[in-house]
Amino acid sequence: MTATTKISRPNDLSAFWMPFTANRQFKQTPRMLVSADGMYYKTDDNRDILDGTAGLWCCNAGHKRPKIVEAVKAQMDELDYAPAFQMGHPKAFELASRLAQLMPGDLNHVFYTNSGSESVETALKIALAYHRARGDGQRTRLIGRERGYHGVNFGGISVGGISGNRKTFGQMLGGVDHIRHTYLPEENGVTRGMPEHGAFLADDLERICALHDPSTIAAVIVEPVAGSTGVLIPPKGYLERLREICTKHGILLIFDEVITGFGRLGAPFAVDYFGVQPDLVTTAKGLTNGTIPMGAVFATDAIHDTFMTGPENMIELFHGYTYSGNPVACAAGLATLETYEEEGLYEKGKELGQYWEDAVHSLIDLPRVKDIRNLGLIGAIELEGIDGFPTKRAFSAFLKAFEKGILIRTTGDIIALSPPLIIEKSHIDQLFGTLREVLKEID
Ligand code: PLP
Repeated sequence: MTATTKISRPNDLSAFWMPFTANRQFKQTPRMLVSADGMYYKTDDNRDILDGTAGLWCCNAGHKRPKIVEAVKAQMDELDYAPAFQMGHPKAFELASRLAQLMPGDLNHVFYTNSGSESVETALKIALAYHRARGDGQRTRLIGRERGYHGVNFGGISVGGISGNRKTFGQMLGGVDHIRHTYLPEENGVTRGMPEHGAFLADDLERICALHDPSTIAAVIVEPVAGSTGVLIPPKGYLERLREICTKHGILLIFDEVITGFGRLGAPFAVDYFGVQPDLVTTAKGLTNGTIPMGAVFATDAIHDTFMTGPENMIELFHGYTYSGNPVACAAGLATLETYEEEGLYEKGKELGQYWEDAVHSLIDLPRVKDIRNLGLIGAIELEGIDGFPTKRAFSAFLKAFEKGILIRTTGDIIALSPPLIIEKSHIDQLFGTLREVLKEID
């Protein structure tokens, strides 16, 4: 496009290059959401769409929650922005204290970011800097897992294990390796909850340690439940084993809780749910109920205190973002935590877990359904792909579902569901009743 053919219509769709979207397809038949309340979105043609995905795994308390709306409005009136470096404001400290209280163990220190991707970069950098601060600076390797998703920045795609997110971007970080993923369809296909088999997959870390020597490895990062790659539930005993191996070799264990954090599994964090204590935890999304971009990295006392040495006028960690602890985001975060607590939303995955599980698994009789998995308020329905056209079948399901009034998310040929935690049985019935029709109607 030349300068003389500039876009002038405000509703022209071509200027916005949409993220992780089939832009040309979208712009031919746009799917526009114009408002939201509770469990439902509203489209520009005035249709109600049941939110089966909590936005993008982030609106855990549903939409337009009064406490959050009011807190954001009030904060804008009071203090819109405060410099993040060398200055503070009370809500950043208050939120960090509340978060530290909510997180089990001694993960008592919170570093603010603006997204899951930034939380991942931050945690990886803290891990490297921590070892160096201890005089163990040869620990520079970072280990991820096949099929892992850790956002889209260079650190995240390097430790991530989704080839589509890596292949077009040239050089990844050096010194990165990956352990095996945790999906064993032969043994664990159509499992309810955590699979029985596969704790041994954690031993793959020993193979990596033998290859590189553990003294070169700084950290291992995994999602406790892999989400974006199609919901891979950790086998029983797997995370415990991973913890043991990391401890044995002095390697930091990072849990990427960007989707599991804030109630998704029926506990505040996967750390609570699995009872496995990592050294660093990355979060975002549900922290502000998706309203204002914000992420947080939790670090243990031991990691944090390692940095708190040297001259007191010196910056201890050369890292941070202009919007780290933004006042409006902090206000949204505080109101979000209050909403979760007041409405018992951390418990919802437990309370409704069985009803949800039964509903997800009720689809197993449908043709072209290959596997079904669930945990907490997460469900995945894996479809047989169409030969030569990967992702096409699931994408057709997504489009048909939207037409029929439900929002689902697909990744590869897998439908992933993660509704707001305010979901009720009637919504679950609507979601799976409609999905049944959708899966019957698509080719
Ligand atoms: N880590 C995990 C486990 C995620 O699921 C995501 C996003 O879905 C991210 C990191 C990246 O988060 P963001 O999109 O906020 O950068």
